[in-house]
Amino acid sequence: MRSWRLFNIFGIEIRIHPSFFVTPLFIAYHYSKNSPFDESVRVFVLVCLIFICVLGHELTHSVRAKALGIPVPYITLYPIGGVASMARIPSKPMDEFTVSIVGPLFNFTLAALAYFPLLLWMGHGRLFSPNFSDWKGVASNLFWANPVLGCFNLIPAFPMDGGRILRSLLSMRLGRIKATQFSVVLGQLFAILFALTAVFTRNWMLFFVAGFVFFSARREQGIVRYDQNY
Ligand SMILES: [Zn+2]
Repeated sequence: MRSWRLFNIFGIEIRIHPSFFVTPLFIAYHYSKNSPFDESVRVFVLVCLIFICVLGHELTHSVRAKALGIPVPYITLYPIGGVASMARIPSKPMDEFTVSIVGPLFNFTLAALAYFPLLLWMGHGRLFSPNFSDWKGVASNLFWANPVLGCFNLIPAFPMDGGRILRSLLSMRLGRIKATQFSVVLGQLFAILFALTAVFTRNWMLFFVAGFVFFSARREQGIVRYDQNY
């Protein structure tokens, strides 16, 4: 299915996959079974706002990559996150490190900047016990989503940024091929751990993420194997 073109920013085309709205609608529908309608609307809006934070995260990767001379023609928003399409992996490990780490840093910085204004607006009690009873609750949930996004992306497994950060650091000593192999195996171990947790907690969304992480790790190995220039 083709993605829809939304707008251009910093010379990068922002695209949205038609399946994108599946996530907010699914979550809001799930929530609405035991909750009032207005709370479900707030949940839907929250998930859409979280995707704006995801877009900001992908934009920081893209702007850093472009500064290094790597073309980034577009960013696509999918139901489980955003993907910045870079023409190639940065050739120097230090460049891959900085391109990868700026994304999580964006989320941590956003949360740090929003902390005091939100504290003044809603007080400590509301900020630290997020709910959906009103729009302040949506703001506090959005605040917490950012450190969660930052930490999730730091998990050292492909396709998360943490996998790339690990590979870049290992590449400095081991070379890119060995560093990738090590990061791929570690990523697959994380995927198995996710899958087991998903089965025990009956969290099928996590099971889906586990499969995605497992196959993305294999794909990364393939890319590096075929292009020895990396
Ligand atoms: Zn990222």
